[in-house]
Amino acid sequence: MKTNPRFVLVAVPAPLQEPLTYAVPDALDGRLEVGMRVLVPLSRRRVTGVVVGFQRESPVAGVKAVAEVLDDEVLLDDAFLKLCRWAADYYVASLGEVLAAALPPLLRTESRLVVAFAREPEALHGTLDREVLDAVSRRGPTTPAALSRLFPRRGVKAVLDRLATAGAVTLEDRLRGHVREARRKRQPRPEKTAGAAPGGAPVLTGEQEQVLRSMDQRLRQGGFETVLLHGVTGSGKTEVYLQAMEQVRRQGRQSLILVPEIALTPQLLDRLEGRFPGDVAVLHSGLTPAERWRHWWRIAHGAVKVVAGARSAVFAPVRKLGLIVVDEEHDYSYKQEEGVRYHGRDLAVVRGRIVGCPVILGSATPSVESYQNARSGRYRMLELTERVEARPMPRVEIVDLKTRPGQTAADGLFSPPLLSALKENLELGHQSLIFLNRRGFASFLQCWSCGFVFRCPRCSISLTFHLGRNSTFCHHCGFRQRKAEACPECGNLSLTEVGFGTERIEHELRRLLPKARIGRMDRDTTSARGAQERIFRSWEKGELDVLVGTQMIAKGHDVGGVTLVGVVLADSSLNLPDFRAAEKTFQIISQVAGRAGRARQPGRVIVQTLVPGHYCFDHAQIHDYPSFFATETGFRRELGYPPFQHLVHVRLDGADEDKVAAGARDLARALRREKLPAPLEILGPAPSPIAKLRNRYRWQILLKGRSRPALLALARRAVALVPKGRTTRLHVDVDPYNML
Ligand code: ADP
Ligand code: ZN
Repeated sequence: MKTNPRFVLVAVPAPLQEPLTYAVPDALDGRLEVGMRVLVPLSRRRVTGVVVGFQRESPVAGVKAVAEVLDDEVLLDDAFLKLCRWAADYYVASLGEVLAAALPPLLRTESRLVVAFAREPEALHGTLDREVLDAVSRRGPTTPAALSRLFPRRGVKAVLDRLATAGAVTLEDRLRGHVREARRKRQPRPEKTAGAAPGGAPVLTGEQEQVLRSMDQRLRQGGFETVLLHGVTGSGKTEVYLQAMEQVRRQGRQSLILVPEIALTPQLLDRLEGRFPGDVAVLHSGLTPAERWRHWWRIAHGAVKVVAGARSAVFAPVRKLGLIVVDEEHDYSYKQEEGVRYHGRDLAVVRGRIVGCPVILGSATPSVESYQNARSGRYRMLELTERVEARPMPRVEIVDLKTRPGQTAADGLFSPPLLSALKENLELGHQSLIFLNRRGFASFLQCWSCGFVFRCPRCSISLTFHLGRNSTFCHHCGFRQRKAEACPECGNLSLTEVGFGTERIEHELRRLLPKARIGRMDRDTTSARGAQERIFRSWEKGELDVLVGTQMIAKGHDVGGVTLVGVVLADSSLNLPDFRAAEKTFQIISQVAGRAGRARQPGRVIVQTLVPGHYCFDHAQIHDYPSFFATETGFRRELGYPPFQHLVHVRLDGADEDKVAAGARDLARALRREKLPAPLEILGPAPSPIAKLRNRYRWQILLKGRSRPALLALARRAVALVPKGRTTRLHVDVDPYNML
């Protein structure tokens, strides 16, 4: 729709900013369309925005003009903008903020110039010109900023202008360069032989067959529906996704599959590539901005059949969407915890409704919210109750650490049953997983004489001791301090390590099993690029006997040699001040247990705990999700927690403790005076459980009630009541997961 209005509405990535009106200069008359990116002036900067509408009249006089149009075709279609508007409305954010979260970084910034070597010039102006030209030809395409850093204070800009005039270098728009390159790569691929079976697809089990058959019509003809695929670990859910995607591909449509953290599942990518060779694009934060842009562009132009990605991929610019799959839909990494705090799974369902395609939410341990939706009929429940080839579920034993005299959690990390099972498994040549959801060597260092504990100076958190780096670290802000010999408080040499993490577990295992090949996977061992995949590949190939790790090892892996899983201390997640603590514990135990016995050999799981009577262990032990759900929802209903009531978490933070506290009290008072369409509870204000983070003090207010409209109305009032741009900032989190 090309029009010739005199003004456009542009969404710019600024907090709580509604779209702004800009004038259309004559030069751009008729060239702008909804969904194109433009460069616009905003205070004293120029920012990239997206055209979201047209206006004949401007509401105010003297508006500024659009500076430049960045696209020559529409990149963001109507359904995409609808999804963004929905998210802005629901998560109490501006459209610009949602666009900032939805678009890859390169698309959000003014595309920068790239300098490339063109040809040797006949003459050069001086030695600096020579040096700069040499640098460009040596480095390959580079940016003016990088050259300025290389030749500080020497007027590189003027040099580049001269070199460009002489034809020695070319200056070009980085994004346009990528577009051209991506276009070149989009060559028609030879059609696969008609009728050929998709590579390597197994014969489906009866249950898989039934699930696919019941979705057949939606997959062929489209139409919105949400299916909760509840299938035990190893029941072949991934195979169901693959065949559903294949069906959609045959209709000439594309599929989007979301996974918790894509880097954690190289196996899934292998399987996707195996089935859809050359037709898979991935989007996740581990890619460089240029890679991300390239994948994004291929998706936007329909060059792939399958898009896989982490939560932000819910905004992937797929045009002919025929299916959305959310794998491990219960996973907390779908929740964005900064900026616009959206939930990738929930937005996936909204997107399915907007475009009119089916959505599959898959899990062995569904979220209480999704299971409730399936029970109430909003979602359709489909189940896979057995592992493929009728393999047995792993046997789960609960070991009570309390009843073993002289063996507290701190000294004997491994109970006799776990230790002997480990030794036995090693002798059999099978693999063992050891899980503990805490990294580091000791949870903290404490003085045995005066009780002093090392704390982060920036956060109200104790520091975790890491032996390998002989330092203590803040796991929230990264603060590091070398280990002291003496207590800084009393001077005694009586510092003691308290608590334990995965590093300590690995250390103990090396002592106990000197012949075993032991690996560790946690954030410390995987910080280098590619390290995680390297560890996983050697685990997959059987080059490791024991793999120790945090929740990174609990997800999605399918390694046939694993027959033993040990959970060192299952309670760590139970004691958090979080109404989902039991759900999280049940899920992680079931998921990590599900890694065992996936091939011919049956699996065994040993769970060590100090509270063996807790209901989440009873139900996890017998793989009984419905019973867990029944017990859990009993508590939730009684206490008025989701899914029976809804929450909005409101936080104020700032550098001045008194101002934050006063601001929170004022806000709570003002909110209590609001007239509401339905009753709500306003809890607080109170200091957050983590009262200080990165030198900012934190207070919170919790809004709770049955009526979503009333909750959102109150959340919007909170936003209106706290002035923007002050040092005390407001954060609104709708359907919060992390309230620490
Ligand atoms: P889930 O995602 O439910 O944990 P997967 O899809 O990973 O399960 O399947 C578990 C294992 O069984 C995988 O190794 C997979 O290749 C295999 N598998 C899946 N479906 C079948 C089938 N119909 N026949 C044989 N093997 C299968
Ligand atoms: Zn800190």
